[in-house]
Amino acid sequence: MHALNVVWLRNDLRCYDNAALSSAVEDASKSGAAVMALYIATPKTWQLHDMAAIKQDLIRRRVLQLQQEMAALNIPLLAVEGSSYQQVDVVFTALCRQFQLKVFVQTEYELREQQRDAAIEQLVLANMGQFIRFDTQCLMPPGTVRTQQGDYYKVFTPFKRSWLAQLQQQGVRCCARPAMLPASNLQWTQQVMTDLPAMKEADNSSQQWPVAETQVLQLMRNFCRDKVADYQQLRDYPAIDGTSKLSAYLAIGVVSAAQCVARLQLEAADSWLQEKSGAAVWLSELIWREFYKHILVAYPNLIKHQPFQEDTAAIRWRNDTTLFNAWCQGQTGFPIVDAAMRQLNQTGWMHNRLRMISASFLVKDLHIDWRWGERYFMSKLIDGDFAANNGGWQWAASTGTDAAPYFRIFNPVSQSEKFDPKGDFIRYYLPELAALQGKLLHWPHTTGGIKAYCKPVVDHAVARKLTLALFAEVKQKN
Ligand code: FAD
Repeated sequence: MHALNVVWLRNDLRCYDNAALSSAVEDASKSGAAVMALYIATPKTWQLHDMAAIKQDLIRRRVLQLQQEMAALNIPLLAVEGSSYQQVDVVFTALCRQFQLKVFVQTEYELREQQRDAAIEQLVLANMGQFIRFDTQCLMPPGTVRTQQGDYYKVFTPFKRSWLAQLQQQGVRCCARPAMLPASNLQWTQQVMTDLPAMKEADNSSQQWPVAETQVLQLMRNFCRDKVADYQQLRDYPAIDGTSKLSAYLAIGVVSAAQCVARLQLEAADSWLQEKSGAAVWLSELIWREFYKHILVAYPNLIKHQPFQEDTAAIRWRNDTTLFNAWCQGQTGFPIVDAAMRQLNQTGWMHNRLRMISASFLVKDLHIDWRWGERYFMSKLIDGDFAANNGGWQWAASTGTDAAPYFRIFNPVSQSEKFDPKGDFIRYYLPELAALQGKLLHWPHTTGGIKAYCKPVVDHAVARKLTLALFAEVKQKN
């Protein structure tokens, strides 16, 4: 039987700094095995994950592009349409029948993905193959940053301190892109067959987002070179293009966290560890990304959408569907919230400050279960990522790891005045308010309102009191 090294790609859709790919190639150079990459699109499972159509499209476009990038290395990428995870089994059964397999994968932390991998590992082992995991979604894999007692951290700040100390000790290493294989590798492995059809074409709804690896790496490098110094000053203003917009690429692994940190270190060597510098604050955001992944691994109940603070499971959310629909459609009468939701609905991305404001508003002004919002965001975001989204929602809902108390409640109008001071962002997404100036833009209801714009669906001061009561009820019981 011919030996075949299969790089099974999932959230690591890249050639550079791809440990699974590099190892498969290196192993083949010693063993003489052929090398092939594999991607299995699973739209039914994507649906179970509420994956946004725009994210699905980004993945399809990226996989098709990666096929070309890998072909330049003489590595074929077999991209098939598998519907759900059950059909992943079909592919590996077919491959095991034909070859002596070594499967190289990047670890995934979500429940269904862990179960899928465990089943495929069993199948491969039962056929005398090997299943080799690489824990490379984070620069510091879950389990490697722990308290002195050996526990996972529950709070971000000490986690970050420990993470940074570890970084200084071990540094950052990225794998090079693997060397080109002989042309015979491409010809030979192109004959590999499975019973599944080729992956469907993309519909190009994510067209605004480039997918070539070199372009994405260039975006990352440009950000670290030209913009990161101002990140601390600009990152909270949605009208300004002050953040990296790399989240969609980090979510599907076109770029790795290690690559971002390595480049940051290079471009901002003098400032990246100086607290409050743009570079250090950006690094902090990358550490948040890792923190939420560590938390997800440490607390498997999170994957079942359980609150991190268990007592908050008893909160009696009001869950009014009319209010929920108004929020989804950007029709709450609170301009900054509506502009934020329209940005999400129209572009598939939302600025971080707005994610915080709109999430807080859903939970603490409309008293709707954070899980409804979590799910809606997931169904729309191009960068939808379970750990970051769940972490962000639980942070906003005061059910998560946030050290701040539940009675810190965002006032959507003062947030609007502070973070969209000239109203440029609101004007862009709410053309019906474009003629207003000053405070009126943030709260257009003082003079009887604007005909073309909806009335506020709640009174913030009243809603705030109810939130405090809802939380006090469950906190007092404990
Ligand atoms: P930058 O500001 O340039 O940050 C760099 C990178 O750090 C981001 O690309 C992202 O990977 C990571 N990052 C930044 N902030 C956070 C954070 N608070 N938590 C975790 N990682 C962070 N981020 C997602 O990637 N996917 C999500 O599904 C997601 N859902 C969110 C839901 C809510 C309610 C909130 C409050 C935040 C959510 N975030 C999510 C985090 C954050 O809003 C986005 O990562 C950020 O807006 C992406 O823009 P950027 O790439 O320009 O970020």
